[in-house]
Amino acid sequence: MPHLTIHPVIADLEKQIIAYRRHFHQHPELGFQEVETAKYILDQVKDLDLDIRHPLVRTGIVATMSNGDGPCIALRADMDALPIQETADPPYKSQNDGVMHACGHDGHLAILLGTVLALDQLRDQWQGTVKFIFQPAEEGEGGARYMIAEGALNDPDATAIFGLHVWNYQDFGTIGIRSGPVLAAADEFEIIVKGKGGHGAMPQGTVDAVYVAAQLVVALQSIVSRNLDPLQSGVVSVGQIQGGQNFNIIADEVALKGTARAYREEDRQLIKSRLEGACDGIAVTYGAAIELDYHDGYPPTLNDPVMTEVALRAARKVAGDGVGEPYLSMGGEDMAYFLQEVPGCFIFLGSAKPEHKAEKVPHHCSHFDFDERALAVGASVFIEIVRDLLPAGS
Ligand SMILES: [Zn+2]
Ligand SMILES: [Zn+2]
Repeated sequence: MPHLTIHPVIADLEKQIIAYRRHFHQHPELGFQEVETAKYILDQVKDLDLDIRHPLVRTGIVATMSNGDGPCIALRADMDALPIQETADPPYKSQNDGVMHACGHDGHLAILLGTVLALDQLRDQWQGTVKFIFQPAEEGEGGARYMIAEGALNDPDATAIFGLHVWNYQDFGTIGIRSGPVLAAADEFEIIVKGKGGHGAMPQGTVDAVYVAAQLVVALQSIVSRNLDPLQSGVVSVGQIQGGQNFNIIADEVALKGTARAYREEDRQLIKSRLEGACDGIAVTYGAAIELDYHDGYPPTLNDPVMTEVALRAARKVAGDGVGEPYLSMGGEDMAYFLQEVPGCFIFLGSAKPEHKAEKVPHHCSHFDFDERALAVGASVFIEIVRDLLPAGS
C-alpha cells in the first residue's frame, strides 16, 4: 500500500471525523429531508467564526470562513441517503427504517466537517475565504442545481470548487484524479408505442405494439454501436418494457423505459437525436404511433485541467504513488452543475476495505460500507488544496 501522509491536524481530529461519519450513518435522511443532518452540522460548528446561510433549498448549508484578503474557493459535500434497508449489522447501523447511507455521503459530510474544524485551527497556514457547501439531494433530484440558483456560489463568488466521492471501486490508499469527463450525463427516456389490437390468430388489420417495441429495442442498440465514435463512450439501456394482455391478444400498447448516458455533451445530443429518429422512423415503417418523453438528467461531470493539477499536487502530498487514474463509470453526479459554473475538480477517494479485495462492495447496495481510514485521507487532500490555492502571506 502507498505511504500516506495525513495532515497532523487531521490526524488529531481523525477520531472525531469517524464519529461524525458514524452519527450520519446512524441517522440517514432522504433528499431534501436532511433536517436533522443539517441541525447536527450547524451544532458542530456553532462556536466557530463562520458566516452561515441556512436553510438554502430547504436543508442546504453554506458556511463561509474568511481569513484575510484573498480569493474564495468552495468545498462541497452532499447530504442525502438512499431508500435502502441496511442488511449488514455494523455497530453504527442505520436507525431509520428503509433509509441508508449506501453511497458514502455520510463520509463526505464527515470529511467536510473535519475540514472546517481543521482550517479554523490552521488559520496561519492559509489566507482568503473558503465556502463549505453542504448540499441536499444528490441522488436523482439535483440539489446542486437549486443551491446554485439560490446563490450558493456567490457573495463572495467562488473562483474554484472541489468535491470528492469515497470510491469502493478503488482500494483504500489510492486516489483517482483526471482532467476532463469523469462521470456521465445520465438521461432517462420513456416511450409509448401505440398500435392497434386484435386477435392473435388474425394479425391482418392490426398494428402489433409488442412487435414494434421489439424492433425499437433492437434499433436503439445500434445508436452507440453504429452512430457514436468508437473512441467515445455512451450507453443506451432499456430497463423496463410493459404491455399486452394475454397469449392470443395482439397488444395495442407497450411502454418502455430506459437510460441514455454519455461522457461528452455532443455525444449526449447525438444519442438523443438518434433516439428521436428511431422512434419516428419505426412509427412510420410499421404504422404505429410512438411517443418519446426524454428527460435530461445530470450533465457530464467535467474536471477543469488547471484545477485538476491543483488536486493532483494536493493528493500526491497525501497519497504519493497512490494517486492515479480514477475507476471510471457511466454513473452521474450533480457535482456536474457546480463544475459548469466554476472550474474545479471532482476527486475519487479509494475506500475499498482490504478484506474486500477480490469482490468490492458496490455503492447503492444494502451492505455498503467503506474503509473509514479514507476519511482522514480525504480531509488531508482538502487541506492541501486550500494551502495550495490560498497560501498564507499572499
Ligand atoms: Zn449514489
Ligand atoms: Zn454518491
